[in-house]
Amino acid sequence: MNLFSLRRATPSLDDLLIEPCAATPCAPFSSECLMPCVQRPQPVFVRGQGSWLWDSDDRTYLDFTQAGAANSLGHSPSVLVNAIAAQAQSMINPGSGFYNRGMLKLADRLCRSTGSDQACLLGSGTEACEAAITLARKWGRLYRGGAAGIITARHSCHGRGFAALAATGKPVSGNGFEPRAPGFSQVPFNDLPALHAAVDAQTVAIMLEPVQGEAGVVPATEHYLKGVERLCRELGILLILDEVQTGVGRCGTLLAEQLYGVRADIIALGKGLGGGVPLAALLARGKACCFEHGELDGTHHGNALTAAAGLAVLDSVQEHGFLPQVRVNGQYLGQELNRLASRYAQGEVRGHGLFWGLSLADDSAQALVNAALHEGLLLSAPQPDCLRFTPALTVSKGNIDEMLLRLARAFSRVQSAQLQCRKGVAV
Ligand SMILES: *Cc1c(COP(=O)(O)O)cnc(C)c1O
Repeated sequence: MNLFSLRRATPSLDDLLIEPCAATPCAPFSSECLMPCVQRPQPVFVRGQGSWLWDSDDRTYLDFTQAGAANSLGHSPSVLVNAIAAQAQSMINPGSGFYNRGMLKLADRLCRSTGSDQACLLGSGTEACEAAITLARKWGRLYRGGAAGIITARHSCHGRGFAALAATGKPVSGNGFEPRAPGFSQVPFNDLPALHAAVDAQTVAIMLEPVQGEAGVVPATEHYLKGVERLCRELGILLILDEVQTGVGRCGTLLAEQLYGVRADIIALGKGLGGGVPLAALLARGKACCFEHGELDGTHHGNALTAAAGLAVLDSVQEHGFLPQVRVNGQYLGQELNRLASRYAQGEVRGHGLFWGLSLADDSAQALVNAALHEGLLLSAPQPDCLRFTPALTVSKGNIDEMLLRLARAFSRVQSAQLQCRKGVAV
């Protein structure tokens, strides 16, 4: 028997779900010159509006990824487009070594609306997490005898810089790019005794996501996060919350910490803050505000163009009635996902606000993402057995209903393919 007939006898899910592709993604361009660091599907996107994207063949897609939750107001919202255009017209950026109005305004706005004392504006979530680590170590030198150890949670994700990678509690595709940055240790998430046991004299901070995104949208329990806060206070160490994904309204409150009723010393923001442009922020409170001149800088820190975007996003998110609407739509999305999950015999639905994960009965997440793409629906799979939903915070109930229809078709498609697979094996 040759390989070909073997393949025919047991078709894989991919064989059944992926149609033969055109030779190039978008003639006359191919993807050959792009480093293959990220696996991407075939479509080349050319236009977006709200919850919708169009590809170069003018096919439409309902987008429930929104650039990994970065497009908080959906695709090309006019408030953001206008703010960026106006800022670009008057001045793109004078440089991080000078003040600009947007930088001052956004830092002030972030501090006032989150009860923080200082803010630093950066370009990515990774940068914000790395800066949080740097700041915690500065604090450790000042107030905790040079302690520098950071405890994070297993399966956490804090970005891809070297400190962020070391903080991140999982190997990247089995490759940690050793040697890792020292001074990090991981404990199981939502396990207070394990955390307590891990703290020693070298510990300076505990760094957690309120909802673990890459792990498959796993929310901290309230008992856990409140316990972590108490532990930090008792032991005199810092609580760092990585709110890069959960912040800026994603969980139905401006920060997820509000949802939990805790207060971190240092917070990392990113993703949704820029609404689609690269903007992140580091927030600090009280004694954690200990950076001095020369200890943190970057070419695009405080960038006037992206600061204008951040202000436009906050204007919208803090508008009267916006966050209550996120909570209402989020609750509806969660409830309907639950209904769908039980209809297709899947697992748990987890999340807050408009940040949801659906755990699957098997490792079919990628097959489902492919099938959804076929149905004109964009989803992501943070884990082989989990789907993630991060629609625009402005998503309508109608779009949620449309998503559920397309998702149901994707489930049917995958389940009938699985059935064919099994028959193929049986033959
Ligand atoms: C995405 C993410 C990061 C990294 O942000 P980038 O902007 O991709 O560098 C860090 N932490 C969390 C929780 C994230 O979701």
